[in-house]
Amino acid sequence: MLDKVRGGLFGVAVGDALGATFEFMAREEIVSRHGSKREMVGGGWLGLQPGEVTDDTDMTLCVARGIIASPQDPVEEIGRQFLAWYQTDPKDVGATIRTALGAYTKTGDWEQARALTWQRHGGRVAGNGCLMRTLPISFAYFQAPDLLSKFSREVAFLTHPDPLAAEACLFYNVLAKELLLGEDPWSAFKRARSLVQHEQLAGRLDSFQSLALEELQPTGYVVDTLEAVLWCFFNGENIIDAIESAVNLGGDADTVAAICGGLAGTYWGCSSLPERWWSRLLRKEELDQLAVGLVQASHQVR
Ligand SMILES: [Mg+2]
Repeated sequence: MLDKVRGGLFGVAVGDALGATFEFMAREEIVSRHGSKREMVGGGWLGLQPGEVTDDTDMTLCVARGIIASPQDPVEEIGRQFLAWYQTDPKDVGATIRTALGAYTKTGDWEQARALTWQRHGGRVAGNGCLMRTLPISFAYFQAPDLLSKFSREVAFLTHPDPLAAEACLFYNVLAKELLLGEDPWSAFKRARSLVQHEQLAGRLDSFQSLALEELQPTGYVVDTLEAVLWCFFNGENIIDAIESAVNLGGDADTVAAICGGLAGTYWGCSSLPERWWSRLLRKEELDQLAVGLVQASHQVR
């Protein structure tokens, strides 16, 4: 169990750190100029150190810390963790999240912040920033399906006021929960898929297997992201292959690879991650501590 939880968190961080090097680049450019094998080299448009992570991992850790502080009722504490992180002036903050946390800072009210976010983005708020951070919910509430569902939606809704965003997070967390419990990936997929009602999301989930690599769209839209993630995970022969193919899509590479790494790490476990990747992560002690904390929290919510 702990190896899978560690694998999920390390998978997010490894995908984030590897992907950030290639964020906003095109797939053809990455593979033709840099080959298809990935190492922890840092760089990218943010000028990162090797093993340095970005908002995807930072916010995942915020969710984990919020849950560990208050397992029965984590949403407010997670919101506080997001704000504390936002106030550190991070190198990168996604557009929707910047608006939402900026609006909360001004108004002190999540409801008003949501309305302002919706308005400012013309209702286009189904970004992948809610999905990249949601994995710890699977780990703490794997034995409490009602809480898993409730908190998946509520934590998404803090910054992404769109039922589609919430449903994408619920799908992902149920999939990860089933993988944590040792289900095979396709059975896990079917269980998660059975909960999806949003027509567009359901349609894309039912058709991703038939897509060619060239048809994947690694954009910031949560449905495009999820489709690319599932394609890389289900077509990956092992954890390295799954994460590298997500990174190599380019575009929103850190986020797509972080979300794919979360699934791959949960399924294959931390022990399957190559040492040359995980050992370079700058915050591996913190990831380790939070993995242990999440397993402990899961016992408190049975
Ligand atoms: Mg990022």
